[in-house]
Amino acid sequence: MGYEAVIGLEVHVQLSTKSKVFCSCSTEFGAPPNTHVCPVCLGMPGSLPVLNKKAVEYAVKAALALNCRVNLKSVFARKNYFYPDLPKGYQISQYDMPLAEDGYIEIETEKGSKRIRIKRVHMEEDAGKNIHGEGDDPFSYVDLNRAGVPLIEIVSEPDISSPEEARLYLQKLRTIMRYIGVSNADMEKGELRCDANVSIRPKGSDKLGTKTELKNMNSFRHVQRALEYEIERQISVVEEGGQVEQETRLWNPHLGITETMRKKEEEHDYRYFPEPDLVPLVLTEQFVENMRSELPELPDEKKKRFMDQYGLSAYDSEVLCSSRELADYYEKAVSAYNNPKAIANWVMVELLGRLNKESKDVTQSPIKPEQVAKLVELIDKGTISGKIGKQVFDIMYKEGGDPEAIVKEKGLVQITDAGEIEKFVDEVIAECPEEVQKYLKGKTKVIGYLVGQVMKKTKGKANPQLVNKLLREKLEGMKG
Ligand code: ADP
Ligand code: ZN
Ligand code: MG
Repeated sequence: MGYEAVIGLEVHVQLSTKSKVFCSCSTEFGAPPNTHVCPVCLGMPGSLPVLNKKAVEYAVKAALALNCRVNLKSVFARKNYFYPDLPKGYQISQYDMPLAEDGYIEIETEKGSKRIRIKRVHMEEDAGKNIHGEGDDPFSYVDLNRAGVPLIEIVSEPDISSPEEARLYLQKLRTIMRYIGVSNADMEKGELRCDANVSIRPKGSDKLGTKTELKNMNSFRHVQRALEYEIERQISVVEEGGQVEQETRLWNPHLGITETMRKKEEEHDYRYFPEPDLVPLVLTEQFVENMRSELPELPDEKKKRFMDQYGLSAYDSEVLCSSRELADYYEKAVSAYNNPKAIANWVMVELLGRLNKESKDVTQSPIKPEQVAKLVELIDKGTISGKIGKQVFDIMYKEGGDPEAIVKEKGLVQITDAGEIEKFVDEVIAECPEEVQKYLKGKTKVIGYLVGQVMKKTKGKANPQLVNKLLREKLEGMKG
C-alpha cells in the first residue's frame, strides 16, 4: 500500500527589536553572559512586565504579511514548566486568544503553486540558554541574555505533504520576514526555529494519523532530512504491523536518525492561564491599517508582477523574488536593457549558480546588473554568440571588467562574414564524409553535429545561425 506524509510546522521567529519584549534590556546577540538582564527578565518577585510596542508592530506586520486576520483583542497567558533557563517558572505566551489567525502562504512546488494555511500567529518571549561545561568542567551554566527576547510563533495547518515542501515553506517564511524587516530569520543563528509534526496515512485517505513531533533541526537541510527519516520510520512501523506512538523525537544530526525524547504520558501539562500582570492586548483598526500600509511589496505580489510585467514563469519569478536584493538586481538589469527573459536566465543560471557555489548572495556579486544587461545586448546584437557570452561572463566574474571591453580585448567578436565561415564549412564537409552521407540519405538531424564541428574550428566565434544556413545550402546542393 502507498502512504502519504502529513506535515504541520510550528515555527518560532525572533523579532529584531532593539530591546526585549517585557523590559528595556538589549537584545544584542553575543554579549558576555548575563549582562543584558534586569529584575523583569530575571523573574524577580515583584517586578512587572511592560509590553514593547515595537514588538507588537513587528508581530502585526508579520501576521498581515502571512495573510492572517489580526484579532483586535488578544490575551497573554502563562505557560508553566520547570527548566533552569526559565527563571520565572513560566513563559509568557498567548494561548486561546492569539494575536492572529487563519492566514496562508504560497510555495512554488514542482507541480505548481500550493497554498499552505496558517492556523495562528502568536507573540511570546524567548527563554534563556543552558550551556554545558566541556571537557572536565562538570558544571552547567545559564545565560539569560536571551530570556525575554520577543518571538512570534507561526503554526501551520497540516497542509504540507513532503519534506521538500516543508523546506520550501520555511524558505518562504524566511523570505517574507526579511522582506518586511521584522527578522533576519537565519536558522543557523536560531532566529528561525522549527518543530516539525509529521504523520503518515494511506494515500488518498483524509483521516489524520498519529503524529510525532521532531525537534533539534537547525538548518533547512536538517529539517528535510529529519522528516525524510521519520516518514520512512513510521512507514516501517506500520508495515511491520505496529502503530506509530505519539511522542516527541529529537533529530540526531550525527547519526541521521530521530530518537525518542519523551512519550505522550511524559508530555508537559503547561497549565496555561491568563497572565495577571498584563492587560489584554487591544489594538485599533487604525493601528492595524497603519501597519498594513507600511508593508513593502510582498514576495508573492512581486512574483505575480514579475510574471505579468516581464512574462516570466512562476518558478523563475519565485527564484528572482526570493530576496528583495535579488529582485532589485534583476529589475536594474532589465531597466538597463529590455530583454527580461534572457536576463532572468543569465542571472539565475550563470550568476546565482556561481554565487551559490561560493555561499554568497547577490549583494556580493562581482558583476553589476548593468554589466549583465550589456552582455545580453551584445548577444542580441550578434556581436558575440551565446556560447562566447558564457566565456565573457566567466571573465567578468573572475576578473571584473565590462563585457564590451572584454570582447574587444580578447578578440571574441563573432564571425558573421559568410565568406570566412564558408571556408570552415567546406573543411568540415571534407573531413566528415560519413555524416555528410547520412545527411544526404535523409538523416538531416546530423547537421547538429556538423554545425558543432564548424563552431569548434572557430573557437565558438562563428554565428551559429549562419553556420547552419551555409551548411544546409551546401549539403542540399550536393543532393542533386
Ligand atoms: P498539539 O495540540 O499536539 O500541539 P496542534 O493541533 O496544536 O497539536 O498542532 C500542532 C502542529 O501539528 C500544527 O502545525 C498542526 O498542523 C500539526 N498537526 C496536527 N495534527 C497533525 C497530524 N496528525 N499530522 C501531522 N501534523 C499534525
Ligand atoms: Zn530585562
Ligand atoms: Mg499545539
